[in-house]
Amino acid sequence: MKIPRSCFVLFLSTALAAQTLTPQARAIHNSAIVVDTHADTPQRFLYENFDIGNSDPKDVGHISLDKARAGNLGAEFFSIWADPETTRGHFAQATFDMIDSVYEQAARHPDRMMMAFSVADIERAHKERKLAALMGIEGGHAIENDIHLLHDYYRLGVRYMTLSWSNTNEWADSSGDIDDPQVQHHGGLTDFGKQVVLEMNRMGMMVDISHVADKTFFDAIAISRAPVIASHSSARALTNHPRNMTDDMLRAVAKNGGVVQTNFYSAFIDENYRKAAEAQQKQAEAGVEARVAELKAAGKPVTYLDKDQVEREWAAKLPRPPLKSLIDHIDHIAKVAGVDHVGLGSDFDGVSGAMPEGIDSAADLPKITQALLNRGYSEKDIRKILGGNLLRVFGEVERVSREMRAEATRSSTRQ
Ligand SMILES: [Zn+2]
Repeated sequence: MKIPRSCFVLFLSTALAAQTLTPQARAIHNSAIVVDTHADTPQRFLYENFDIGNSDPKDVGHISLDKARAGNLGAEFFSIWADPETTRGHFAQATFDMIDSVYEQAARHPDRMMMAFSVADIERAHKERKLAALMGIEGGHAIENDIHLLHDYYRLGVRYMTLSWSNTNEWADSSGDIDDPQVQHHGGLTDFGKQVVLEMNRMGMMVDISHVADKTFFDAIAISRAPVIASHSSARALTNHPRNMTDDMLRAVAKNGGVVQTNFYSAFIDENYRKAAEAQQKQAEAGVEARVAELKAAGKPVTYLDKDQVEREWAAKLPRPPLKSLIDHIDHIAKVAGVDHVGLGSDFDGVSGAMPEGIDSAADLPKITQALLNRGYSEKDIRKILGGNLLRVFGEVERVSREMRAEATRSSTRQ
């Protein structure tokens, strides 16, 4: 019988994946509540009309309901990101549109997915074997300097906000442009920025310090009354990228009781890859600009996906780092901050496909459990890394919120 080559390759890779996963790893992984705190899939929902129920084997996306089920992904924080370039002048509208796109997916697939807003919701979704869909806003520019908009986002279910994306906004400096003299910086968080952090504490929205400048990080840690998260950041001691966290920062998160959710992006976890990506960065950026100019000249709208397409072509030119590089980062954070302060923040669907070998989608998450087991991590510690730590921090943020709301009620009744 002649087997088509593509089927044979698929059979082979499935067989290999099954071989490398021991029954112990499979049992640990499949019984854990696995939480990932960063996926950019809403860009696909909104601009590509992508349906999360998609089962096309050729789809290169990292997230679908099938892939989530195969990798026992229990909860995903979908990233709500208003591109500061293409949505300039209407960040709030772009944010609302993207929030709506997540709700639409949950409404289409009520049997396999549910909106979730709390630790209790995540636990309920796990019992019902549904993917818990949560939302985090990536970039404080989304609130348009208006605390009322922040309230609205919370009411719609947003449960974390990254204080800045790669762009410095009016109240928080970003690591993405901190060396750009043309950008007006504030020396960390402004007074309004500090007010935003406290308001997030009061509402019960997690404060996310991924992407921010180092000074912003330390300001946020100093002012926040609740533990913070880094929704998708890795370790700078291993891969020297300003998006990554120094050992001092890792220790500060540990002291604060927070959690660092390790980013899987190749350029953040592998020094060789980072250097290679940096070497071709100017050419890649020129390629993106040329594509944008071409679309504009043709009178066509430009979205994130148009840029992503060019970036994917450039990323594909570089060899993928080994899975070991990602595990090294998890291990480093666990050693420096402690095993209670590390988790998973993949950046799925947000890195133009640039992930380490073996990680092609959420279906490959069990490989991380296997690799941690191979390194001598205990079942208890693996469960913490897979999601337990994030659930602890989220629960603590909920508790601080209840306390602050009660304080506010007490002080208003005293008046
Ligand atoms: Zn990001």
